[in-house]
Amino acid sequence: MKFRCAGLTPESIVDGPGLRFTVWTQGCLHHCKGCHNPQTWDMDAGIESDTDEVFEQIIQNPLLDGVTLSGGDPFYQAKPMAELAKKIHSYEGGRLNVIAFTGFGYEELIAQANADNGYMELLRQCDYLIDGRFILEQRSLELKFRGSRNQRFIDVKRSLKEGRAVALTDEELSLM
Ligand code: SF4
Repeated sequence: MKFRCAGLTPESIVDGPGLRFTVWTQGCLHHCKGCHNPQTWDMDAGIESDTDEVFEQIIQNPLLDGVTLSGGDPFYQAKPMAELAKKIHSYEGGRLNVIAFTGFGYEELIAQANADNGYMELLRQCDYLIDGRFILEQRSLELKFRGSRNQRFIDVKRSLKEGRAVALTDEELSLM
């Protein structure tokens, strides 16, 4: 499936636990003050990419622990990202996990999900979600994998099962 891509990082150790392949999606309407990637805001910029081609690139590297969907905001292209994440999970018995960064809050995604936007399809394919807008006034360099204190590192499977956002504690995160 086609999507607009801002870039690919084949090996990253800062976008989640372990060695990860990061997909930077193009397009974000949150426009957070202090955003590090304002070049990814324009929904029409970046280049057209194909999820199958990205998947083929991902599986070339046997050392990866998982894939991170970032941006931009991958939820603006939730359907192609859900398709990519599904393929990743069906590869080698689900050896690779999937993490998504989003400027939406978890509750916002659940409340706004509908058949057209694909939010639930993508949420169901995420193992973890780092949610919420970047708030410059709450910025902290001490947070693992997050930029500002309002953002949470959410266990999506548990959250969907329990019907509420279940965030990992700092202690749990330190073990990752
Ligand atoms: S959600 Fe992320 S990419 Fe979008 S404006 Fe905020 S910090 Fe930037």
